[in-house]
Formats: sequence, C-alpha cells, structure tokens
Amino acid sequence: MDTGTVVAAEQVRQVMEILAITYRGRGSVELGEPYRVLVSTVISQRTREEQTTAVSERVFAQYPDIDALAAADEQHLYRLLAGSEYREVKAPRLIAMAKILQQKYAGRVPDDIDALLELPGIGRKTANCVLIYAFNREAICVDTHMHKITNRLGWVRTSNPTQTEIALQKVMPRDLWAGSNRLFLQHGRAICLSGAPPLCSRCPIRPWCDYGQATRAARY
Ligand code: SF4
Repeated sequence: MDTGTVVAAEQVRQVMEILAITYRGRGSVELGEPYRVLVSTVISQRTREEQTTAVSERVFAQYPDIDALAAADEQHLYRLLAGSEYREVKAPRLIAMAKILQQKYAGRVPDDIDALLELPGIGRKTANCVLIYAFNREAICVDTHMHKITNRLGWVRTSNPTQTEIALQKVMPRDLWAGSNRLFLQHGRAICLSGAPPLCSRCPIRPWCDYGQATRAARY
C-alpha cells in the first residue's frame, strides 16, 4: 500500500495557517500536569469534550493523584465516570494503569512513547496527546478527524490513523505538529464533517483540497 505523502511542506504550512486564522483561539495547545492529561485523555476516548471536562473534574476531586487512583474502588470510579463512553472498560483500566505507574515508574507518567503504549488502553493517539499536552513534545496526535481530512486534502493516502501519523511526519513542518490536532478537530466538527457530506462550499481551504476540487469539477 502506498502510504507516501503527496504534498509540499510549504502548502501544508499555508493550509494550516488558514485553519489557524479560521479557528483562532480554538486551536491552541494547553499544557497540563501529566497525571491529569493522561487520565483526562483516557476519559475523552469516544466522548464529547463537554462531558470529558465534567467527568474529569469529578474524578480528580476524588482521585487527585496516581496513588489515590491506584487504590480506587472500581465501582466508585465507574459511577464517577458516568458520561464517559465505555466506562465499564475505562474504570478497571485506569486503576490498572495507575498501579503500573506506581510500581514501574515510581508514581510518575513516563515521557516516552514506547512506555506509554505499554499502559492498558493507551494507543498511539492517546500517547501522542500525552507527549504534546503533558510534556510539550513534538508529536502528531492523529484522530479520526485528522485522518479523514488529510486524506481528503490529498496530503496522504492512508487507511488508518497510524499510517497517517507516519506519512504526515514526512511533510508537516515540525513546529506545526503539536497544534495540528486541535485545528483539524475544529475543522472536522464545523465543516469537513463525518456523518454527513463535507460542507465544501463553505470551506476556506477548498482551493488546496483534492476532494473539494473534484466535487467542484463534478458539478460543472
Ligand atoms: S474542501 Fe471539503 S473535503 Fe476538503 S477540507 Fe474542505 S470541507 Fe473537507
């Protein structure tokens, strides 16, 4: 399968500058304490942002650090997670994760992607988000929005987010990596939709988009 990239870095920068202007103030990277970033990122999996914030605050009020979470009662944590999808899976995983952090990492969140990927329930998207938001590292956090939009743009030709992450590393300037997820998340929610046709006629980056140009041509 061709997972190569098909766009120049200058064009990537130009498009992302337009997205940054379009979603000004809604695409910034906010750094946080590693424990909170890790736990809230797990809570956010398949869960809306408003719910994630409310549930995370509830969990942190009861379990403010790794030691507290490692000693948590699973049923109590399950109840606190109400509003987060798949809480029956997340509750035992969060406790198991905290125990591993206690035993293997002296109660700290590791700043290494391989170590993060060994934790229960942590995939590449979550691990990269933790590296970005907890440790200010250069990483690309590819979610379904970013995977979809970069394929529609024609920047990559990939079939899953991991392939997209690797392909984007070759064309996206490194200084744009960390903030890219927030921009594409905003664009995916507002215009480049998933459950309905993308709103290409309202899209500020349509001139640079393969899909947008193809659908425009098909109408004439
Ligand atoms: S032109 Fe259409 S497909 Fe391309 S990024 Fe914009 S909304 Fe998405």
